[in-house]
Amino acid sequence: MKPILIIAEVMGECVRPVTWELIAAARMIQNLIEKEGGVNKKKFPGIQVIVPAQNPMPLAKKISSHGGIDVLALEIPTPAAYTSEAYKNWLSPEISELAPSHILVAHTSQGRDFAPGLAVRLKAVSISGVNRIVSDGDGLLYSRPVLNNTRNMVLRPESGLPVVLTLMAGSFSPQTYEAKDPGLIITKKISPKPGLPVQMVHEKILKQETNNQALKMAQTIVAAGRGIGEKSNLEAVLRFAKCFSSSAVGASRPLVDMGWIGYDQQVGITGASVAPMLYLACGISGSSQHLAGMKESDWVVSINKNPDAPICRHADLCITAGVMEFIRTFLEND
Ligand SMILES: Cc1cc2nc3c(=O)[nH]c(=O)nc-3n(C[C@H](O)[C@H](O)[C@H](O)COP(=O)(O)OP(=O)(O)OC[C@H]3O[C@@H](n4cnc5c(N)ncnc54)[C@H](O)[C@@H]3O)c2cc1C
Repeated sequence: MKPILIIAEVMGECVRPVTWELIAAARMIQNLIEKEGGVNKKKFPGIQVIVPAQNPMPLAKKISSHGGIDVLALEIPTPAAYTSEAYKNWLSPEISELAPSHILVAHTSQGRDFAPGLAVRLKAVSISGVNRIVSDGDGLLYSRPVLNNTRNMVLRPESGLPVVLTLMAGSFSPQTYEAKDPGLIITKKISPKPGLPVQMVHEKILKQETNNQALKMAQTIVAAGRGIGEKSNLEAVLRFAKCFSSSAVGASRPLVDMGWIGYDQQVGITGASVAPMLYLACGISGSSQHLAGMKESDWVVSINKNPDAPICRHADLCITAGVMEFIRTFLEND
């Protein structure tokens, strides 16, 4: 049975937490394949992880102890620097050798950058932004959000071809697995091939000038979404937030994109990840990208005029109301 392969996301000396979500998704695929074909234990697809890093061994050990998964510790040339070209050059021969059925990559800025090109090199199917995987008895189906997250497109790849998937953060919950023994670790060193064309070099990574400390420290976050209607309504949202001690105002991305509020206040996959005691989502639909940044909140309260908004599936309390009417009534009675 062809293995399911994961490309660990490495940042400096660390494995990024999204890697544990990729492992959870791989386990899910494993189970779905088993149920689909009644695969006997001997042919149960294995999971393997490639860890591309300058010093991959400590990271490989950490992963292999996570449920006894086999790891390829791929030592990449120094100075180690990510570029999509380099990743495709380094990874494609290793992956071709392993001949996996699935290649799982995080849907992060890095994963989105190299995964489609990698799929081209591997002559594989490429599906980006997957948030759900199911089986219908005829194979696996992959869903990805479309039309501004209001619909899910369900895709069925041609059978027999390898599939490169980028998986949305927050869609596959990481789990703890018990394993008696750690998995096997194989080490391999990539030597830069002089003949390979170098289309770009990695110069440096600049830290973004953001200051979202207030958001990170707040015990209550009042987050405004497109449902607040107008920029001028932010003033009332601010006053609403001040009714709570240790509070801060956050926002969904459209408000930042429209220039209503600063990027420091954006919550989500491309903004801040927060974990307050109370998260008040005001006119926010609950896209997977937004949920990824606030899913660790202790309590979530949604104020939304649509009782079927996706956020309601994740909230502890859903208040079905016009958000500005609710906030103004609250302020009048405070
Ligand atoms: C690569 C990528 C990265 C992204 N990163 C992020 C990110 O980090 N953070 C983020 O937030 N988004 C991110 N997005 C955008 C994301 O997909 C959604 O578009 C966004 O989260 C939607 O914001 P929203 O909920 O405010 O708006 P909408 O989806 O438009 O939802 C508005 C909500 O308000 C409700 N509403 C409308 N009027 C009222 C009213 N009068 N009273 C009460 N409720 C009302 C509606 O019912 C609806 O549920 C990203 C998208 C991509 C493609």
